[in-house]
Amino acid sequence: MSTATQALRQLPRRRRSLTSSALPLAQQVALVSGANRGLGLEVVRQLAATGMTVLLGARELALGEQAARRLRRAGADVVAVKLDVTAQTDIDAVVQCIEQGYGRLDVLVNNAGAHYDVRDRPSSVAIDAVRAALDTNLLGAWRLSEAMLPLMQRHGYGRIVNVSSGCGASTIGGDSCPAYRVSKAALNTYTRALAAELGGSGIMVNAVCPGWVATDMGGPGGRPVNEGAAGIVWAACLPEQIASTGGFFRDGQRIAW
Ligand code: NAP
Repeated sequence: MSTATQALRQLPRRRRSLTSSALPLAQQVALVSGANRGLGLEVVRQLAATGMTVLLGARELALGEQAARRLRRAGADVVAVKLDVTAQTDIDAVVQCIEQGYGRLDVLVNNAGAHYDVRDRPSSVAIDAVRAALDTNLLGAWRLSEAMLPLMQRHGYGRIVNVSSGCGASTIGGDSCPAYRVSKAALNTYTRALAAELGGSGIMVNAVCPGWVATDMGGPGGRPVNEGAAGIVWAACLPEQIASTGGFFRDGQRIAW
């Protein structure tokens, strides 16, 4: 049994009705990938502040547990799970944990991202670097969404947020960070395709650009992390009345694909 499974096995069982649709935010269960630092960590903090139970995904479980402990000390209901989005075994273990511990998932934030290859150019970037960017930024979100969807479909409610980037928009030109850029453009297309398939199911799928944010990836000079995260949390908590799916947003406003 994996460490993540063991950790969650020790949690109290909180299985809920499998036939209900939208629960109040304070009764929802969320999973955020790449959440031991940066935007992911702040998204976990903000989601937990609504009262949600949040699973904090981290590829280094020790770092995830450290981060989760800090949030729990502030009163948040946060549990760390080992989750490398390129590892199907990690994903399968997290599904099993959620199944056993909660029986449902309401929110999935595909935040894990890497390979911001700002110095590469499209004519010369190593193909292995492109493959690695796609594996994390596109296929990571794809794998995780496919695995988590049954946990949403059974109660006809879900919010999937793919954390993308304005540089993946087809309307934005430029030759920098080619592997990262193409991976985010592909993530945008995946967002639209999945949203189209799930239309009317109660599961909304949107892409969000957090803007330029001062994290390890964004570097100094960007906006504060809490501001970038707020737009992601907005999409994760979209009420039925707004009913927006298959959109690309920044700060709750639509932006061009
Ligand atoms: P960050 O500070 O570099 O954090 C990235 C997070 O992703 C870390 O927790 C990292 O884990 C995790 N990660 C990387 N590869 C992973 C994998 N294979 N499996 C699981 N987790 C993995 O970056 P950030 O700025 O918070 O970025 C978060 C998201 O926002 C990314 O999708 C990024 O593309 C997007 N974004 C950021 C900006 C910006 O200006 N910062 C702008 C537009 C979009 P480790 O600690 O183990 O490395």
